Amino acid sequence: MTAQIIDGKESAAQLRSSVAGHVAWLKEEHGITPGLAVVLVGGDPASEVYVRNKGRQTIEAGMSSLEHKLPTETSQADLLALIEQLNSDPDIHGVLVQLPLPSHLNADLVINAIDPAKDVDGFHISNVGLLGTGQNAMVPCTPLGCLMLLRSHLGDLSGLEAVVVGRSNIVGKPMAQLLLNDSCTVTIAHSRTRDLASFCRRADILVAAVGRPEMIPGDWIKPGATVIDVSINRIARDGKQQLVGDVDFGSAAEVAGAITPVPGGVGPMTIACLLANTVTACCRAHRLSEPEGLTL
Ligand code: NDP
Repeated sequence: MTAQIIDGKESAAQLRSSVAGHVAWLKEEHGITPGLAVVLVGGDPASEVYVRNKGRQTIEAGMSSLEHKLPTETSQADLLALIEQLNSDPDIHGVLVQLPLPSHLNADLVINAIDPAKDVDGFHISNVGLLGTGQNAMVPCTPLGCLMLLRSHLGDLSGLEAVVVGRSNIVGKPMAQLLLNDSCTVTIAHSRTRDLASFCRRADILVAAVGRPEMIPGDWIKPGATVIDVSINRIARDGKQQLVGDVDFGSAAEVAGAITPVPGGVGPMTIACLLANTVTACCRAHRLSEPEGLTL
């Protein structure tokens, strides 16, 4: 193996420690405890695990954590009423509605009901617009984590050719926008892209966010490229359950300059960035200077 491993666990631990430092400062100097509210509708097992982890890490960072677990049959009106209540609660600085929502609920309507200043997931249409115009947005956590890893590994990204595979609103599109804002030349590929391999082979930075186990082999990767593998796919191999990304790690690591592992790459950064966004939202709400290192 020749590629350097980009250690997301280590970077996330540093970010969480920086978050905890800012939280301590907010408490001691200003008597403010940042608060994050997470709303979960229904009992999707994966979502329950995410919500539990978010709550635990929020408390470990010294913040207050509020969890609202609502039954699957919750009505749109009741969910909107809860969001309204959280929007007007001065002790809550971040509001997150865990996706996916049950199919009878309109996710766009629900997300756009969150106060954009408390939208720590960065999915509200106002934050999408701010990011798209290069203004001070709440940046979606997973792409924010990817960009932090890229900047800390490569420094200035200006002029690099970046290819993002996947165009979802929560990962692919904001990732591409962040890379563009950092002056990369950006291509977004998706399921209709013709000859995906030829696009991937041009990339100095390749971000894979598809959800198809090991679909990108090493011979699609430019020698020396930096590879960010966002996906977490569960597969059965040799009779065991295993987590793998969209990139075939073994062959890719022979060609790439650096690569994120799965697990232990992008995943740990996502929750750390959620905590960072909550502190940023808290500072903005109280008109305090923006904490350095927690946002872009
Ligand atoms: P979506 O399913 O919303 O989007 C997947 C994207 O991949 C779509 O744009 C789709 O294209 C594209 N795609 C599908 N098949 C192909 C193909 N054969 N070739 C090229 N592109 C293809 O997923 P998300 O964006 O929500 O998530 C992507 C992955 O990232 C998932 O594995 C998810 O588990 C993971 N994830 C990880 C996080 C973390 O913290 N590490 C956080 C969030 C997500 P089209 O639009 O044309 O359908």
